[in-house]
Amino acid sequence: ESKRRGKYTYTFYSNDLVDVVRYRLFIEQGLRKALTEQSITAHWQPIVDGHSGQVVGVEALCRWIDKDVGMVSPDAFIPVAEETGLIQSIGLHMLRESCMLLKLLDERGFSGIRVAVNVSGAQLKDSEILDALNEIIQDCQINPAHLEMEVTESTLQSENAAMLLWQIRQTGVNIAIDDFGTGYSSLSRLAEMAVSKLKIDRTFVDSLGTDSRHQIIIEAIINLARSLGLLITAEGIETKEQWHYLRDKGVHSMQGYYFAKPMPLNDLLRYLSDNKDGNHNLF
Ligand code: C2E
Ligand code: MG
Ligand code: MG
Ligand code: MG
Repeated sequence: ESKRRGKYTYTFYSNDLVDVVRYRLFIEQGLRKALTEQSITAHWQPIVDGHSGQVVGVEALCRWIDKDVGMVSPDAFIPVAEETGLIQSIGLHMLRESCMLLKLLDERGFSGIRVAVNVSGAQLKDSEILDALNEIIQDCQINPAHLEMEVTESTLQSENAAMLLWQIRQTGVNIAIDDFGTGYSSLSRLAEMAVSKLKIDRTFVDSLGTDSRHQIIIEAIINLARSLGLLITAEGIETKEQWHYLRDKGVHSMQGYYFAKPMPLNDLLRYLSDNKDGNHNLF
């Protein structure tokens, strides 16, 4: 097993083209198998209200649990999945899991909580996702307003993807821009788009207090979101200081290890019942 892990790490960090190709093939074959064996699953990270600390949302984060390698990070396999087209199946699977969670939360009396799912630009090249969405909303009988799709800024640059997002928005599903500030945004498109939330990337949060330029960027993002009437979530909150700083600047909701790490379903359900009235230990 350790040999495998070694090889795996080695190929991933190598710049040698042969190694890169071999790594991709290794991941691609593994992913295909994982999809049929259902070892691709969602972990869930709570998102809390900036003021009360109450859980207002949950983000679905894809996990590949391999019996030899263990847990594979999405950063290692999502890019390969995008290149090979496997992202379509993974994306639909994650969408289905997200809707099933919404239904479960509703049944358990946690009905105000939103579920956010990441959607790759590669999933917005045709309308398969829209058809699937309509079908799943029907099947699961969920309120589409409780579902959120996270896309990155670069997605908005494609005319087709922007149009499709607009149609998705018409179903009632919310659109959030993930990792905001790290890509290229067409600000005019942001304004005319179906977007309802910006998520400040964690690289900015991370360097609060050490990099004053990042502080300026964060303030600019907050002002932009506010003038466009968009909600703001900050990602990657690891300290009370970061949380309080961002809360006082007007960030609505917070996500990060300070509050909770991504966790499997059973842990999430326990976390939600333990923190029904907010978590007073946080303050
Ligand atoms: P993302 O959508 O921006 O998700 C947030 C990432 O930040 C997650 O990493 C999460 O575990 C991590 N994170 C949250 N709070 C903290 C913190 O306080 N400190 C630190 N150091 N990290 C924190 P993860 O789960 O490894 O996912 C990485 C990326 O992979 C995601 O970034 C997203 O772009 C992509 N991804 C994950 N699941 C999916 C999926 O189902 N579909 C697609 N298309 N992409 C996905
Ligand atoms: Mg995300
Ligand atoms: Mg993000
Ligand atoms: Mg990210």
